[in-house]
Amino acid sequence: MEHSQLISVIVPVYNENEVLPTFYQRASDALRGIEGIDYELIFVNDGSTDGSNDVLTDLSTRDSRVRVVRFSRNFGHQIAISAGIDYAEGDCTVVIDADLQDPPEVIANMVAKWREGFDVVYGVRASRRGETPLKLLTASAFYRLLNRITKVHIPVDVGDFRLMSRRATDQLRQLREKDRFVRGLVSWIGFRQTGVIYERNERLAGQTKYPYGKMLKFALDGITSFSTVPLKLAMWLGYAASGFAFLYMISVFVQKALGYTIQGWATIMVAMLFLGGVQLICLGIMGEYLGRIFNEIKPRPMYIVEEVLGRRSATGD
Ligand code: UDP
Ligand code: MG
Repeated sequence: MEHSQLISVIVPVYNENEVLPTFYQRASDALRGIEGIDYELIFVNDGSTDGSNDVLTDLSTRDSRVRVVRFSRNFGHQIAISAGIDYAEGDCTVVIDADLQDPPEVIANMVAKWREGFDVVYGVRASRRGETPLKLLTASAFYRLLNRITKVHIPVDVGDFRLMSRRATDQLRQLREKDRFVRGLVSWIGFRQTGVIYERNERLAGQTKYPYGKMLKFALDGITSFSTVPLKLAMWLGYAASGFAFLYMISVFVQKALGYTIQGWATIMVAMLFLGGVQLICLGIMGEYLGRIFNEIKPRPMYIVEEVLGRRSATGD
């Protein structure tokens, strides 16, 4: 028989003990159904506190295809994905959520595209069941804005569910920035990319680990790591304020010439508060970038691993 190819499936896990057994079962069934491949399941336990770790430890002792990378604390979804990519040894890698919102059966379609020669095959969401209207609206507005202000084309309706070839994975591994927006980084590396359409389901059980605060941080990571347009906002606001001031000056001259008395206090207050507000906004934007520069230059590793379980680490190969 021909030498089979290895797929590394990366699963970020944060407090998912309710869904893990079902996920493991469905993912294993789906992967076994793909011809000519072997697979490893790399669970990155991102500081779970709900017993997910016991479930994962148990899986890794029962199934030699399971590896567990346990973080020393919660580092966040994007970093968990990146750690999985660092540990993956396969001929290609797949990133998938543990909550079964991304159906493992779609991996077979991704593998087919990969065999056609694509380096990146991302999942495109045909529909998104079980999301609030506000999440759908903010997400769609965000991706449209992001594509207007960045040069890298980041496809709309695409999450982190995707397959990457070995060489795409290796390139992605070199990008060590800490405020990560992985789907943007994958677009940035280039190569041949394509999508497969799938139905995104509701989360099987448990709560979303992305409350609005985290989503906002995620959106800011996306914008600041791919665009400097917000930094130019200060200049545009400056032009606009100067233009407005010039027009107002002319109107003052005309009023004076016509003999009107010009009332001062209200105008001064409005102008002062307006300019004060604009300046603080601009400073805030600069602060946002400055904070990220600070975060980037600290020579800290991206994450800390407490323990690695699974066959490969045991034999040290
Ligand atoms: N996740 C993680 N670390 C976090 C938050 C989430 O590893 O800090 C994992 C989570 O367990 C899941 C995936 O990332 O497998 C996506 O999270 P979630 O389903 O909560 O996000 P949503 O689908 O609601 O956007
Ligand atoms: Mg989810």
